[in-house]
Parts: sequence; structure tokens; C-alpha cells
Amino acid sequence: IKDMADDEAIQATNDDASECKRYAVQLGYWCDPFISLFVKQTARKAPEINRGYYARVKGIELFVDKFLKLSGGKGQIINLGAGFDTLYWRLREAGNSPANFVELDFPSITAKKCYQIKKHKQLIDMLNTEDGEIRFSTTDLHAANYHLVGTDLRHIAELNNKLAQAEVNFSLPTMFLAECVLVYVDASATSSLLKWLAGKFPNSLFVSYEQVNMKDKFGQVMLSNLRSRGCLLAGVEDCESLETQQRRFTINNWEGTSAWTMVDIYDSLPVMDRSRIEHIEMLDERELLTQLLQHYCIAIAWNGQTFKNLSIAQG
Ligand code: SAM
Repeated sequence: IKDMADDEAIQATNDDASECKRYAVQLGYWCDPFISLFVKQTARKAPEINRGYYARVKGIELFVDKFLKLSGGKGQIINLGAGFDTLYWRLREAGNSPANFVELDFPSITAKKCYQIKKHKQLIDMLNTEDGEIRFSTTDLHAANYHLVGTDLRHIAELNNKLAQAEVNFSLPTMFLAECVLVYVDASATSSLLKWLAGKFPNSLFVSYEQVNMKDKFGQVMLSNLRSRGCLLAGVEDCESLETQQRRFTINNWEGTSAWTMVDIYDSLPVMDRSRIEHIEMLDERELLTQLLQHYCIAIAWNGQTFKNLSIAQG
């Protein structure tokens, strides 16, 4: 029963992420015509939170763009713990879709996403359907190059089946996205997942956004950070530092890895864009933003030559 309560609290973290994104989009931090179709109302968020989300979304996009360029239209993106992420539709609108796009989350979340997709013609119409066929169940949706499937990332056999149903080709260039997800999965299940993916996808890139620098000056994991929305951050030990983030990949058979705090990512974004968003809202204490950005990172890992040594340099 305790585990079920934890799982429910974990699923609720998707509401937080989607609401924060919707609020920042509403203020004009970035453009996303689709998020408001998944999230209706939002309460006000502090300016540093909005800037943090801007850095998160732009940081992920930076690697998505690099992946799409390097895979030359033949790649597949697999979004782990996708929640209500709108990346598929944003890429479609930009005319920049990969060959296949798969989203995975708990069935309770994918059911809600399926429902919203069915409800909005604008979302349905953008699913690529060469043969006109879209298959729905309560929790899963299969279109020509978009698949939304309900599963628990801690269960590898089920994941394997779901990827097969989503027409994933293990030998194609593949990008895995885990945006604020692995921290909710306990360390041994994350290890099994990363090891299994490394063994199955020889030509792949993993991009993970999550907490980092979670220990205080005495070396203790900050207790207030152990729970978020009442659920245990089961994977928090791997969030100790950039090194522990990277080690999680290397010990699980990924060939190479890099990691940056969100301070580095924010500073790498184009000056024009930063200057634009810094004028949206006043931020009295710049230090607040820096402190926030220091506690999040993007860690990447790769297998094979195509995605070796990617950096955060623009272009
Ligand atoms: N990636 C989305 C984003 O950044 O907008 C959602 C992030 S939300 C903080 C974390 C998501 O991970 C939730 O949707 C949750 O249901 C999902 N998740 C966590 N553990 C999972 C598991 N074991 N299996 C499937 N999904 C999981």
C-alpha cells in the first residue's frame, strides 16, 4: 500500500512539471501552442522557477536538435516518463520529426494523455498517419510514427514488449530522454534499465535532466530534498554530484558520458534569447536563480561513434 501511495505521488509530479511549463509559456518564455491542451489552469510561479524551466526546456532541445542533425531523419526518440511533454508536436510543427517517437509513462498518466489527444483535433491531426490508421486503447496509442504506451520503467520484460509494439528498431540511432524521471526510480531499477538499454541499443544517446549537488557541506543528503510532493526520491544517491551522475552510466555499460550543471547550460544559451527572457520578469536577486540552477544538471551518455563527445556548444 505504501508503494502504491508513493507511485501515485510520483505520478502527481507530472502535474507540477506541466503546470510550471504552461505558466512560463503563458508569460512568453518560449512558444508551445500544445501545452495548454493538456493542462488547463495554473497558479503563479516565481520568476526564478520560470527561468529554471526555460533553461530546462532549451537545454533538452539543444540535444534533441543535435541528435536529429546527426541521425539524419533516421533516428528514433524514446521519451521515458514523458508525462504531458509536447515535444512530438513541437517537432512536427517545426517540420523536424524523427522516424519514430515513443512516449512511456505509468498507464494512469498515458491514459490521461490518450484522452486529451483524442479530445483535441489539433493534436490528432498532427499524428503522422500514412495509412490513416490510429489504434487506441485506454492507455496506449499507436500512429504511424508516434506511439504512447503505458508501462512501469522498473519492469524490463514489459518494457521490451511495449517497445516492440511501438515498432522500435534496436539498430537505428536512438535518443532516450529522461526529464526529471530517474530520481523517482530506485537505484537498482535504474541500473537494470540503463544496463539493458546499453546492451540493446548500440547506436544511442541518453539525455537525463535531474537534481544534482544534493549533499550539504557535511556530506549528508539534504533531508528536505529526499521527498518531493510526499514521495521518496528513491534515486537521490545518484544525484550527489556530476561525477555520480556520470558514473551511473559508465558502471552500466555506456561507453562515454558528460554532465553539466544548469548554470553551464543557462550560460551556453544564445545571448539574445537570454536577454529577451530576462526582460519578461524582474528578478531582484540573481543569486536565487544561480542557486536553483546549481541543483539541476543535464547528464548525457552515448554508445557507438555517432553521438560521441557531444557538447553544449550551440550549432
Ligand atoms: N518528463 C516529463 C516532463 O519533464 O515534463 C514529466 C516529468 S514528471 C516530474 C516525472 C514523470 O516520470 C511522471 O510522469 C511519472 O509518472 C514518470 N515516472 C516516474 N517513475 C516511473 C516509472 N517507474 N515508470 C514509468 N513512469 C515513471
